[in-house]
Amino acid sequence: MAEHEYDLVTIGAGSGGVRASRAAAALGAKVAVAEEHQVGGTCVIRGCVPKKMLVYGAHFAEDLHDAGKFGWSVGECRFDWTVLRDNVLAEVQRLSGLYTQTLENHGVTLLEERARVTGPNEVTLASGRAISAKHILIATGARPHVPDCPGHEHGITSNEAFHLEALPRRVLIAGGGYIANEFAGIFHQFGAKVTIINRSDQLLRGYDESMRDRLLQISLMKGIDFRFNASFRGIEKLDDGALLVSMTGHDDLAVDCVMFATGRLPNTEGLGLAEVGVELGPRGEIRVDRFSKSRVDSIHAVGDVTDRVQLTPVAIREGQALAETLFGNNPTSVSYDAIPSAVFSHPPIAGVGMTESEARNTLGSIRVYQSDFRPMKNVLAGRTERSLYKMICEGDNGRIVGIHMIGPDAPEIMQAAAVAVKAGLTKADFDATVAIHPTMAEELVLLR
Ligand code: NDP
Repeated sequence: MAEHEYDLVTIGAGSGGVRASRAAAALGAKVAVAEEHQVGGTCVIRGCVPKKMLVYGAHFAEDLHDAGKFGWSVGECRFDWTVLRDNVLAEVQRLSGLYTQTLENHGVTLLEERARVTGPNEVTLASGRAISAKHILIATGARPHVPDCPGHEHGITSNEAFHLEALPRRVLIAGGGYIANEFAGIFHQFGAKVTIINRSDQLLRGYDESMRDRLLQISLMKGIDFRFNASFRGIEKLDDGALLVSMTGHDDLAVDCVMFATGRLPNTEGLGLAEVGVELGPRGEIRVDRFSKSRVDSIHAVGDVTDRVQLTPVAIREGQALAETLFGNNPTSVSYDAIPSAVFSHPPIAGVGMTESEARNTLGSIRVYQSDFRPMKNVLAGRTERSLYKMICEGDNGRIVGIHMIGPDAPEIMQAAAVAVKAGLTKADFDATVAIHPTMAEELVLLR
């Protein structure tokens, strides 16, 4: 008889947990996954996927507005939030079902309960059943962080934004990162008055300064308001249902909805981790080595719960690498160099590698090539919005160390450009490539 009931028990069926589990099963391991909510995790259920569908929905506002310039008469337009919301939620259910099927097809047992770690090789379900496992994987993701201010319970997070009964007329979004800028664009396109408040005067820390400045400029032009260097004092619910927000350095503001987008914290509470010797960091993150192993040899962690890079494709890589390491006789670690990323703001930003200031500080001698242009579609539509592409190269050899873009389809273009940066190509390699005309992407091979 086997020493343990399972070779691997995973807690959390999100992107990282599902990938690790099905890859482990494909390598011959006996695997179970415990999930208290729904298979799919943040990305599928309340993150990337439904957000992207809202972004698509939001784009129609400008496209319908511009249609006349392209010869189309579209008549009276009306937006019905509940139609989009329900279609998005139905698609989320379908995808969650597909994820469940994937697990089943790989012979992974799904345990639809909360689980906690009760020993180095034991997981106990909410129902009281204890399961022994050779390896345990914690892939419980992260949750929105809500600043502690009086009245914070009146606010929502992105979790609730997908389920709103009605669209708020006035929205205040706290934070200046990914979620704040993405939802600012979404709510604004749907017709809400949006105000972003941020504790510093910097949006999207980590992205190239020129892209951040351009997004701020375009967002202001569209009518999104910003209040910088502001911290919440409190939120008061008024008799008419409105929320009165008081903050440092600025006047009070009455809105219909406050949304917190102030970072995400690893989900490690109540899992029994510290009790069995797993080391946690100051934000509650599980400390792991480069093979995703915690301080306890049989306990591993991947994805947002480790607070390395909070991105779905990274969690998937970590999950795959862990399966290879544990069951494929092939110790595999993930390379965190040149990870491309995007913000699905209006317009979107995408970046890979070093920002200009990082490159200047670390490499000293660099060359920066830039293209600041008005996309053809914007010209005909009469929009003044300009795109900006930037390539940063090492001064002596021309190796590309960073590419940054803001403009329509920037994330789609970036995925291909990122291959070049990861592969260590040079500006000369881009110059040697013939342009596809007319595209926006051709700017990348025509930079001067
Ligand atoms: P971000 O880390 O992107 O931004 C958090 C923002 O909140 C920052 O402006 C930060 O300010 C501010 N903030 C942090 N803590 C506090 C606080 N205590 N009080 C007030 N303000 C605070 O987090 P998000 O919540 O937007 O997103 C979470 C993560 O999810 C992202 O980091 C990203 O990895 C992932 N994500 C990725 C997406 C994508 O790939 N397109 C989309 C959405 C999320 P400061 O800059 O001063 O720290």
